[in-house]
Amino acid sequence: MTRPYVSIIIPVYNEEKTLQPLMERLYPVAAGLQKPFEIIFTNDGSRDRSLEILRSYVAQYPGVKVVEFNGNFGQHMAILAAFERSSGEIVITLDADLQNPPEEIPRMIAEIEKGHDVVGTIRKKRQDPLFRRVASRIVNITTNKMTGMQMSDYGCMLRAYHRNIIDNINQCGESTTFIPALAQTFSSNPTEIMVGHEERTLGESKYSFYRLIRLNFDLMTGFSLVPLQLFALLGIITSFLAVAFAVLLFVRRFMIGAEVEGVFTLFAILFFFIGIIIFGIGIVGEYVGRIYQEVRKRPRYVVRKTYGFEEP
Ligand code: UDP
Ligand code: MG
Repeated sequence: MTRPYVSIIIPVYNEEKTLQPLMERLYPVAAGLQKPFEIIFTNDGSRDRSLEILRSYVAQYPGVKVVEFNGNFGQHMAILAAFERSSGEIVITLDADLQNPPEEIPRMIAEIEKGHDVVGTIRKKRQDPLFRRVASRIVNITTNKMTGMQMSDYGCMLRAYHRNIIDNINQCGESTTFIPALAQTFSSNPTEIMVGHEERTLGESKYSFYRLIRLNFDLMTGFSLVPLQLFALLGIITSFLAVAFAVLLFVRRFMIGAEVEGVFTLFAILFFFIGIIIFGIGIVGEYVGRIYQEVRKRPRYVVRKTYGFEEP
C-alpha cells in the first residue's frame, strides 16, 4: 500500500448516532482528494455501539483505521494516540459530531500546500450555547495574553498540520496537554481560515462544566507560568499595603488612642484575603499535581487493540 498523503484523525466517545452521517459526508470528501489518504478513529472508551460501528467501517471502507483505548483518556489523548500512528504528510483533526463540516478539508489542505505548517480555524457564527461562547471568548483573550501566542479560536479542533509539527508533538510525551496550543509552539508559519460551524444535532456534548474547567487548567498551566507570577506580584503589593496600613494604625494609636470599632469591616477584608490565599494555593496545586503526574511516568493512555493498520 502507498503511504497516505493525508491523515484524517477523529476522536470518538459515545458517538454511535453521528458516525454514520459523518462517514456519509467525510468519505466522499476524502476520496475526492485524489490522493492516498487514511482516516484514523480513536475509540476513547465509548460505552455505546461506537466501537462496533467503527470496526465495521474498517472492513467496508479502504483507508479506515481504528485505535481502541482501554478506557476514557480524553479527547486530546485520543488525538495524540492517532498522531503517533499516522503517516500522512498532512494531518487533519476533526470532531466526530459534524459540528465542523468535513467539506472544509480541501481548503485546509490547500493552505498547507501553500507552505503554512499549521492551519487553524475560526468558527464563523458559532452554534453553541451562549455560556460556551462567552467562556471561550474569555479563554481566547486571556490565553493569548498569558502565553504570548496569537490564536483566535483555541477551542476549534478542525485543524491541519504539516508532518514536521506532528513529529515534534510525538516527541513531547506530556501527560496533560492542549493540542492546538502545543502545535502553535512548534509552528513557524501558522495561518487561520474561517470555517462554518453547525449545531450538534445528534448525541450530546461530552464536556460538562467540570470537564471544561479541567481542560482550561490544562491549557493555562501547560503553556504559561503567568498565573503563578501574578500571585507573586499580588503578594508583594499586599505586603506593601499591609506595612502602610500598620504605620497608619500606629500613628492613630498615638493621636486618637485605642480604637475598636469597625470590627466587621476588618472581617470582610480578612475573608477577602483568605479567599485570595486559598485560590493561590489552588493554582499552585494545579501545577504541583501536573508535575506529580509527569514524574510518575505512567502511560498517558492504554491502547487495547488497533484495527486496519499494517502489521509491522
Ligand atoms: N471526545 C473524546 N473523548 C472525550 C470527550 C470527547 O474522544 O473524553 C470526542 C468527542 O467524541 C467528539 C470530540 O471529542 O468527537 C469533541 O467533543 P464534543 O463535541 O462533545 O465537544 P464540544 O463540541 O461540546 O466542545
Ligand atoms: Mg462538538
